Amino acid sequence: MTDDRLPLTVLGGWLGAGKTTWLRHQLRTGPKAHVLVNEAAGVAVDDALLQAAAGVAVLAGGCVCCEGQGGLVAALRHIVDRRSAGEPIPPLILETSGLADPAAILLLLDGDPILSRHIRLTEVVVLVDALNGAADLTTDALAVRQIRAASRLILTKTDAAPPLATARLVATLLALNPAAQVEAAVAGLAVPLPDLKADPLPLGTGLRPVTAVTLPLPPGVDWAVLSLWLSALIHVHGDRLIRIKGVIRTPAGRLLLQTVRQQVQPPEILPEGLGRDDHLAVIGEAPDVAALTASLARFLG
Ligand SMILES: [Zn+2]
Repeated sequence: MTDDRLPLTVLGGWLGAGKTTWLRHQLRTGPKAHVLVNEAAGVAVDDALLQAAAGVAVLAGGCVCCEGQGGLVAALRHIVDRRSAGEPIPPLILETSGLADPAAILLLLDGDPILSRHIRLTEVVVLVDALNGAADLTTDALAVRQIRAASRLILTKTDAAPPLATARLVATLLALNPAAQVEAAVAGLAVPLPDLKADPLPLGTGLRPVTAVTLPLPPGVDWAVLSLWLSALIHVHGDRLIRIKGVIRTPAGRLLLQTVRQQVQPPEILPEGLGRDDHLAVIGEAPDVAALTASLARFLG
């Protein structure tokens, strides 16, 4: 069950959300990383970033979620080739352009037979500007897609925003993506979120609310079969499912199975006592428990 694929973090967020500032701080204080920067506008990479990273490559040729996809695949394949030849490569961080949809990048990696075998997506970090994020979210579908693709959302510039507005933005982010971990950072440094209750902002029309449902699993379900069903499910409904997470009991111990957007993550052994056994939590745009239960029963025969 060991996964020796090269870890990749995708860093996204709207234009001006402070991605480079945040990344520079993480590189200075955290573990070594090889950084791939995709600036759709071809802006030169920050010198400080160059000094802090183990290596930096600039991906020109357009935004890697759309017209620049070929460049990203070529760059990543080159890196995994070097690693396969024995060169030590630190974990990768891909800083996307402000107009990238991280979900499109995940689909691209997942759909590439070489990259999906050699690269493991660890998290999708999306930065949200506490001053302007709310306006972007209520007007732009791409900003919403970025929020929904995230596993971790970090509000930036919270020192300059009124605490109640920040609390409202947090409530909105959680309404859009209840599975995400929400944090705040000022100039790259983690800071607490305001301890205030607030209602989410009204979502634009056409944006459907995300809900979470729980699905019981038959005891003794085979994890490999369940993984196959999850793959089939996200293949058909992937755009409406944000995350599926479940703990099953196997002879080898308690196993965590989860999907993030269109990817089924490798199973992980969990210690005793964390989470509920033999249940799946499904988070997405109004998941239908009856339909999911029937589909699973058919699949299990
Ligand atoms: Zn794009």
